[in-house]
Amino acid sequence: MLKFKLLGTAAGGGIPQWNCACTLCHLTRTHSAISAPRLQLQAAVSSDDDNWFLLNASPDLRVQIEASPELQPNPQFGKRNTPIAGIVLTSADLDQVLGVLLLREFQPLTLYTTRLIRKILEANTFFRMLERVPNQLTWVEILPNQTFQLGEEITCTPIPLAASLPHYAKDIDTQGEDYATLGLILDSRSRRIAYTPSLPEITEELLALYETCDTIFVDGTFWSDAELTRTHSGTPPARAIGHIPMSGDDGTIALMSKITGPQKIYVHINNTNPVLDPRTTEYHQVIDAGWQIGHDGWQLD
Ligand SMILES: [Zn+2]
Repeated sequence: MLKFKLLGTAAGGGIPQWNCACTLCHLTRTHSAISAPRLQLQAAVSSDDDNWFLLNASPDLRVQIEASPELQPNPQFGKRNTPIAGIVLTSADLDQVLGVLLLREFQPLTLYTTRLIRKILEANTFFRMLERVPNQLTWVEILPNQTFQLGEEITCTPIPLAASLPHYAKDIDTQGEDYATLGLILDSRSRRIAYTPSLPEITEELLALYETCDTIFVDGTFWSDAELTRTHSGTPPARAIGHIPMSGDDGTIALMSKITGPQKIYVHINNTNPVLDPRTTEYHQVIDAGWQIGHDGWQLD
């Protein structure tokens, strides 16, 4: 069995974003029946319902846990417990790691990540709150193409993705370390899932890997390369910040048009992306191309 839940589907900032009055943030605030609010990207997996593994840890994690009974402590097991058995960190981006700080109430945690990402986090003194008592934090080093277990039945294989370090990490000494961003392949007896919410490029190897999957989660941050700049002048184009847009000859819809086996789901959607409004031609192009747009609460059946 492989249970997979999306607890949030938005890119950093969420939808609506606190300081954004763009068309779509405004639409979400005023017409939530057309464009529903979205929490920042968060996924959780389990093979037995009792032990859950988080894929990254979003800044919205507290709300996401309270919205998901399966992630909440059980009074039968005492006053302090959690079904969250571990957290896999695939990058050091704040939107992916800030949630770890919310889980600091003397709770033993296991973090699966690369040496590079661990180094970056440990360079930030905030994270010492997770190591106040012995055995509070257990780090498990992961490496691309080396499988590890998430519980009894789920095998996880990290895949390396090209990426630069987050801006806040530029001055941290990371000499000799690699792998700032990973994708994940999750295997159970019944299913194979690819989780790649941040894609700076699509290689032939990645396309071949997608073909072997039942469900793939793909970077749906932007519709077009210029979208962010057009909405907020002075901001960079999509590709410059590591996201292939959906549209265009070199966008994910075109590049992945031959991938027809797996269920294709866009996640990590930015509040500037017109596909959030189902009345747009962009939305219909995505759906007509055989894609789904992930939503908060989506789960694998
Ligand atoms: Zn906005």
